[in-house]
Formats: sequence, structure tokens, C-alpha cells
Amino acid sequence: MPPWTRHLEGVRVAIDPGHGGDADRPGYKRGPTGVREAEANLRVALALAEMLEAAGAIPVLTRREDRDVPLAERARIAEREACDLFLSIHHNAISDPSRNFGTVWVHADPDHSPASLDLAWSIHREVNRILDLPQSVPCPILSDRLMVERGFAVLREASMPAVLSEASFHTNPEEERRLSDPEYNRREAYGHFLGLARHAEGGFPRAALLASRVGRADPILRIALDDGLQARKGWGSERPRILAGSISVRIDGLPVRHLYDGASGRVAVDASGLGAGVHSLDLRFENVFKHSNHPTRFEFEVAP
Ligand SMILES: [Zn+2]
Repeated sequence: MPPWTRHLEGVRVAIDPGHGGDADRPGYKRGPTGVREAEANLRVALALAEMLEAAGAIPVLTRREDRDVPLAERARIAEREACDLFLSIHHNAISDPSRNFGTVWVHADPDHSPASLDLAWSIHREVNRILDLPQSVPCPILSDRLMVERGFAVLREASMPAVLSEASFHTNPEEERRLSDPEYNRREAYGHFLGLARHAEGGFPRAALLASRVGRADPILRIALDDGLQARKGWGSERPRILAGSISVRIDGLPVRHLYDGASGRVAVDASGLGAGVHSLDLRFENVFKHSNHPTRFEFEVAP
């Protein structure tokens, strides 16, 4: 296990093996000789859970047996278990049996959840490196709206950074054969494991509103930024690890000016021009790994 996988320690990861409980449906999500996607998904997920546990992470599986779990319920399990990340494991299907490449899916548009894009890139890079498939697509990080108008329910309903991995195509005969081999499933699990570890290495930047209510006497909104790396200390920790130029603030959807104090890691925004009532704040920034904060949206109230 590479030393940087230690950053997974204490990270709660929801692993969602796609489908399940559909063995009686002939031809449903099966490869050319009948290998079921649901079974390969589960084998990869169980192997991944073992690796995460060995690294000190806390895996939370949405299913451990061959049964179906409603999509929204899968996201609720992750929520209930306070997971930091959500990873749904699938294998792709297409009518052309020659196709075989990996993709990672995120919800909606890139702005929906920048941290999900960070996770998608880490997962894709490591899974692809480990599986080393001969094909690739121009952009392997894709929006779930390409497939479903409202996006994939598991990604839409997840409140933490969430991706859906389609590591390869079970409709490719050669790949289908490999997918029925537990050793190959472990290899793929290891790719996902390294992807999660790479993501954890980049930290989990967060923003926090110091008060969610401002008044006329002090109309300054204050937000504390955490680069997600502070707790590690180590050499260089006294130097800035937030890209000041990456900080952007919007109130009710419109860009506003802000002041950033690098020493305290705090952002101040003047809310005196706002009417009384509830407003939305969208705040984003990146740390030295170019990792974005999550969540990015907050609500605050201006007192009358
Ligand atoms: Zn699937």
C-alpha cells in the first residue's frame, strides 16, 4: 500500500454496488455470455471495502447481497452514515461489442459540485492506470444528464461529493470474461482504492459561515476557510495553501466583492446592501491540490 494512502484514515466512504436482485430477468444488464453486471459490481465493491478498511477508512456499503436497493435509499444510507464521499460502482453497456473504455459520471453541470469533479478525476486516473484498457474517450468525465434528463438519482440525491464509475464495458466479450474473474475484480477495486486515496491526499477544503445571521449594526458576513490540509501540520504548513485568486463569492447568484485575510483564513463580505430576509451564498476556493471546497452553498439571514 503506497504511503499516501494513509490520508484515507477516518474518511467515510459510501460504496454503492450498482443494481442487484435482478438475476431472474433474462438478458438484463448481462454481457454476451450472460455475466451479470450486478455481480461484478458487488465483487469489486466488497474487495474495495476490504482495502479501505485496511487503510483505516470507514467503508459503508449500500448493499452486501444480491438484492435491489431503491436508488434514493442508496443516497440516504450515505447521508445517514455521514459519509464524506459517495462512489457508485457500475460497468457499462453498448451495442457495439468492440467498445471498451472507462468513464466517471458526475451530476448535472460542472458547477453543481466542483469537489465531485476532483473525485471523478482521481478515480478515473487511477482506475484507468491500473486497468490499462486500450481505448479512451476525449473526455472521460461525463454529466449524468447525457443519459437521463434529471441525472442519475444516486448522484442527484447525494449531499457529499459523489461520482458513478463505469470502469469498463461488460458488453465487450473479452472484458466480460475478465469481469467474471475475482482476481480482475480485485485489480479494479485497487484502482478505485488508489483513486479514493489520491483524492483524500488532496484534502477536503471546507468553508464555514461564522454566523448565519447578520444585522444592521454589523452587516459583515464572515466565512472561515479551511484548506483541508491544516490538521496534517508538517513542513510548509505555515505557508498559504489556499489560492487567494480562486476565491469567488456570489450572493443570490450574483458575484460580490470580498476581502480575504490569508493569515486568519477568513473571508469578509459586506451584506449591508441586502434586504431583510433569507439569502443564498455561494463560496468557492481551491487549495494547493486545486481541490475545491464542499459544500459551496449556504443560507444566511439579514435581520430586519
Ligand atoms: Zn449499471
